[in-house]
Amino acid sequence: MSNSLGTKGGIMDASKVPIVIHKVGGSCLTSAEAVKQLLNLLDAYKANRNIFVASAFKGITDKLIEVAKLAADKKDAEYKQKLKEIRKAHDDINQQLFKDKVANLENAADFVNTSIHQLDDILEQIADYGMETFRLDFVVSFGEKLSTFVLSEFLTSRGFDGHYMPADQLIVTDDRFGNALPLMDFTVRKVRRQITQVMNRGSIPCITGFIGLNKSGYTTTLGRGGSDYSASILAYCMADTFPGAPVKVILWKNVDGLMSAAPEAVDKPILLEHISFAEAKEISYFGAKVLHPKCITPLERQKVPLEIRNFDKPLGSRFSLIDEKGDDTILIKGISVLRDVAMVTAKSSALVAIPGVLAKIFTVLGENGINVSLVSQSSSEVNTTFCVGKDDGTKALNLLRGSPMFKDFFEFHVNDKVVVLGVIGRVDEVGVKDKVFERLDEKGIKSLALAQSADGLNVSIVIEDKHEKEAVKAVHKCCQEQGGCKV
Ligand code: ASP
Ligand code: MG
Repeated sequence: MSNSLGTKGGIMDASKVPIVIHKVGGSCLTSAEAVKQLLNLLDAYKANRNIFVASAFKGITDKLIEVAKLAADKKDAEYKQKLKEIRKAHDDINQQLFKDKVANLENAADFVNTSIHQLDDILEQIADYGMETFRLDFVVSFGEKLSTFVLSEFLTSRGFDGHYMPADQLIVTDDRFGNALPLMDFTVRKVRRQITQVMNRGSIPCITGFIGLNKSGYTTTLGRGGSDYSASILAYCMADTFPGAPVKVILWKNVDGLMSAAPEAVDKPILLEHISFAEAKEISYFGAKVLHPKCITPLERQKVPLEIRNFDKPLGSRFSLIDEKGDDTILIKGISVLRDVAMVTAKSSALVAIPGVLAKIFTVLGENGINVSLVSQSSSEVNTTFCVGKDDGTKALNLLRGSPMFKDFFEFHVNDKVVVLGVIGRVDEVGVKDKVFERLDEKGIKSLALAQSADGLNVSIVIEDKHEKEAVKAVHKCCQEQGGCKV
């Protein structure tokens, strides 16, 4: 069966039929019933060429990591038991999906069997030789392989031509196991070669999220929550391969879209109906859970719009659209909080006008694996403040105090009772920051350090952590007061 207008019937030029990449997240993939929802998505998007990218079934990635750890600890009985549970979870779903479809059930059961054998084998290697990162990535890759195969077989069982494609044959990455980055030139080439044929014959590619392969052919993963990234990498490839066709990505989630603040933190969070790529990167950085900032860049490059939609409402009118322009009539889009941070301050008159001092500070931190977030320096250069992870605060302090370079002329302090409040929107417009600070002033909340990004899209304010809740509520009122916001 053709999945789109024109690919078989010749109603319109097939190369122009819009391409929709549906990424189905683990939060949606909870049961056999959830897999059946794919039929509703296909019905709602039947005028398009559809591609599915899937995460593992809910909770399976965590379980696979656990299994690998148990194997590494040589807890044989336990890891074998856990592996059995993973197997059963998939077997149960298959039984429910393919009740009256013997051939499909056989295919799905075979796939589970083979996967479990491969897992058994690699887990034995972990027990014998240790948990190298490449082995862990191979283990966790089965979460997506198992779920995506089921999806594809399910579509086939319902008259579509689902085509299972493991991304460790498609997305080429660097060697950073556990957090790999795509090598786009190689990836585009591979995707173009493999997907074009599948799409041209009207099949529906079902591609594993989260995973890739390095140049040596080992399976890699793109970081936790990486399936969004897979969808955006594939969208980039599609836009490159089919320049005449509109491409869009829909991230199917268990929420309506991106919100102006964490729903539990404020009374009336606002759904962000239309924001720009640049704003989305800021929001996703702080709001981390719904969207990873990495996944915006490939879309931005190819101008591929992204929608975040609720899996239970395939054609719902409430969703988030992220594209080049966004809605610039709404000035303050969102508030977020970065917790688990420590603020480190370096003070010295020796900092003044000496080239390379900051570079040295950050080199010490970088060489010791400490990541720096907000940076704020007075123009006098006497005082420099930056934030690191809470656990790294004291480590950073000791490293800097212990470094012969800074010993005599510098004072370092750390404060780990802080959070960073991020205000996202057009914070460079006249009067916008006034509103934010008025709200904080009314509550008597002091800003301890401050940084505004030069694109005018983010102002980050360090405050004492005890004020977090009050500050978020207070500043969020600025979002609610704006005309045009849908509450
Ligand atoms: N299954 C992977 C994870 O749980 C990737 C994803 O869900 O996007 O992190
Ligand atoms: Mg997930």
